[in-house]
Amino acid sequence: MRSESRVAVVGSGLGGLAAACVSAARGHKVTLYDKNGWLGGKAAVLHEGGFRFDMGPTILTVPKVLERIFQEAGRDINDYLDLRRLDPQWRCFFDDGSRIDLMQDVAAMAAEMDRFVPGVGAGEGYKKFIGISEHLHGVSERFFFWKPVEDLFDTINIRANMNPGTLRDVLSLRMHATVASTIRGKVKDARLAQMLDHFVQYVGSSPYGAPAVLCAIAHMQTAEGVWYPMGGTRAVAEALAKLAGELGATLKPDEEVAGLAIENGAVTGVRTKAGTTAFDAVISNMDSVRTYRELVGGEVGRAYEKKSFEPACSGVVLYLGLNRAYPHLNHHDFVFSRDPEEEFDYIYRKGEPAPDPTAYLAAPSSTDPSVAPEGGEALYVLVHTPYLRPHHDWKKMFPAYRQVILDKLKRTAGMPDLEERIVVERYLTPQDIHERYKVLNGAIYGLASHGKMMGAFKPGNRSRQVRGLYLAGGAAHPGPGMPMVMMSGWIAADALDSDARGASAKADLSAA
Ligand SMILES: Cc1cc2nc3c(=O)[nH]c(=O)nc-3n(C[C@H](O)[C@H](O)[C@H](O)COP(=O)(O)OP(=O)(O)OC[C@H]3O[C@@H](n4cnc5c(N)ncnc54)[C@H](O)[C@@H]3O)c2cc1C
Repeated sequence: MRSESRVAVVGSGLGGLAAACVSAARGHKVTLYDKNGWLGGKAAVLHEGGFRFDMGPTILTVPKVLERIFQEAGRDINDYLDLRRLDPQWRCFFDDGSRIDLMQDVAAMAAEMDRFVPGVGAGEGYKKFIGISEHLHGVSERFFFWKPVEDLFDTINIRANMNPGTLRDVLSLRMHATVASTIRGKVKDARLAQMLDHFVQYVGSSPYGAPAVLCAIAHMQTAEGVWYPMGGTRAVAEALAKLAGELGATLKPDEEVAGLAIENGAVTGVRTKAGTTAFDAVISNMDSVRTYRELVGGEVGRAYEKKSFEPACSGVVLYLGLNRAYPHLNHHDFVFSRDPEEEFDYIYRKGEPAPDPTAYLAAPSSTDPSVAPEGGEALYVLVHTPYLRPHHDWKKMFPAYRQVILDKLKRTAGMPDLEERIVVERYLTPQDIHERYKVLNGAIYGLASHGKMMGAFKPGNRSRQVRGLYLAGGAAHPGPGMPMVMMSGWIAADALDSDARGASAKADLSAA
């Protein structure tokens, strides 16, 4: 590789776009491919009957990751995106009819919890939980973030390991505990615990199976807030695509990569319908397991597939154009299931849709009136489901499950006349997600984060199997969700860049 390498990015999800921007900002010659006709992957948009829906991600957290990508190119994010803070962050509707708002300020939230369940120390328990979360967030920043990690050995270098502070940090990762047990150790009220469980839904995993370190997500949200980019989360994809273009990247929507050219264990190019194009390095934003299976193939692909990776959950999304908005909804709302253990058992163990699910709602019209005709609402409803099993036929399953979801909203979210207000309706099933985005078994969030010891680890960003291959996206380190996939893109591009510079420094030395 050369310090100005020819780099192919396969896939224009937010991870691929971030990787393209950072590689181009570091001086590499970037070509970005996507099989779809739009750039942004799951951060797609739907325009229908005067309504505008973000089709995938809607909750934006940790904006400093985006800021860092724009800074790479010496640009100010505010010239590209108008980000508005949302506080309350979520409105929560429980099955017993009670409601509480999740607020960013920890002291205010603790006081609200004490009003919600008086006399049991709920607020104090929440503060203690956020204390644990803050610590785990700090440890994550030191061990996992902004570096190409694949396993425990990558996180700790031997010299640092001799440091008692580092050993303390490793022990404090609470590898004996899950997210659910950590929350319930501090917050005794079942409804409040159920609310806090849902941070780990950002990574499509069960709180009963996810390692305690993922409690860090709570502090990321209290410390850095929840944000809405005016124009919708789609605006993030558009801003990154614009930046990549300005930095000289060649953008190729509607061009699928069918395979990688590999010689002597190193990437030499990509194969598309147009033929083979030579590249010095490839960053794959396609699902990691499918990258090895379908793009790398051969012995390496088969060996990789034998590793036991579990897809994260999938989901059903309803896009409902309403002729009248519901003023009691917040921008983000959770309508909780009657029993979280039952719900997570169905989704993550039995592998069947939950009979009484939690529904996440986005009702953005109060923040951004441009999403709907005046007085209306572009209501987005997401219910997590299991990843696709061979017997799942969503063409047959969808109509009945749609009704389960609508009935849940009518019953628990104070929307008894919901069906009368619907004037536009579209939907996405796990099968649609699988086909549109070429993911693993319809998974929304890449690979599940299950397992107390290794649940936090994903395939590393610098391939150990193929030289010159790097991975970015929800199924690569550090994992799914908008901020993490963009960080993943940054890490993949940074690893590529430092390898290219190392190689060119060696070439300079031997020429001298
Ligand atoms: C319904 C839904 C709701 C979500 N809600 C949130 C949320 O509120 N907050 C949040 O932070 N996250 C959320 N997420 C998760 C978030 O959207 C993802 O983690 C993130 O957008 C995935 O980015 P990615 O870089 O992994 O790429 P993806 O978005 O998965 O894109 C990968 C791209 O690669 C392309 N591709 C694949 N293979 C090839 C190939 N061989 N050749 C060419 N192109 C190829 C695909 O077409 C696709 O465009 C949600 C996701 C969904 C689906």
